[in-house]
Amino acid sequence: MNLNIDSLIIEVTRKCNMQCEHCLRGPAQRKTIDDQHIYKMLQMIDSVNTLTITGGEPTLAMDSLHQIKQCAIYGKAEISDFYMVTNGKAINVSNLAEWANGMYHACSNNEMSRICFSFDNYHKYMLDNKQQNKRTNNFENLKETMSEYYGIYSNEGENDFVGIHSDDSWNMESLIKEGRAKDFGTREIKPSCFEIDIYGEYNENVYCNETNLYLSCNGYIVDGCDWSYHTIDNNKDIRIAHIDDLRSSDDLLEAIRVYNARIEAKELQCA
Ligand code: SF4
Repeated sequence: MNLNIDSLIIEVTRKCNMQCEHCLRGPAQRKTIDDQHIYKMLQMIDSVNTLTITGGEPTLAMDSLHQIKQCAIYGKAEISDFYMVTNGKAINVSNLAEWANGMYHACSNNEMSRICFSFDNYHKYMLDNKQQNKRTNNFENLKETMSEYYGIYSNEGENDFVGIHSDDSWNMESLIKEGRAKDFGTREIKPSCFEIDIYGEYNENVYCNETNLYLSCNGYIVDGCDWSYHTIDNNKDIRIAHIDDLRSSDDLLEAIRVYNARIEAKELQCA
């Protein structure tokens, strides 16, 4: 059986060098993902359309980013595109550019592959002018290094390889009620089912779509990417499995099926 996942998210670290008021993850933690968890996840899956790398601040876990790159090059899963947002505050531009070049060449499509800087209005509140200027310089330097040194260009468009994650129209009240925004956010999120499509004469190709498979840095596999660390660690309703309890793609698919059945039963109960 080939297991294909539309959207996989790997939380590489819970460390962060900012303390944003709006952060849906909640206070930072001194935790980084185990390399074996990355390896195991990317061996259980045959293909991923979009691999999102998240945190915390993912660039504070460069070793884990390199592990993902190694798995993308040599591991089983074919990755079409990757996506990562950095706050850009303290990046080493040449190290990040070298890693990004490796990831770009490890991915098979790259139409949507991007590294974005979180220049939205929330992050601006958290920084003084000097820090803002440093982030802007890091952004420009990364863009320039990617194009001039590695030939990967960004043209001020929506799908730039080095881009900006920004929406100045957002406001504090429109935030998700998770993490630090739990008391003033307004948007509630809830677990949802994966759509499982099966193709092939012998049902050998399985596609899981519609929601996000999220591997947390402490090994929990949950549905969705907008939960706080506290919810991931404590709310069993969103939990699909712990990676240590799975041995194969069959185990992972079975865990997703059991999760779907649980969510459907809950929805029926509520109807
Ligand atoms: S929003 Fe991002 S940069 Fe800000 S505290 Fe949370 S993880 Fe760190």
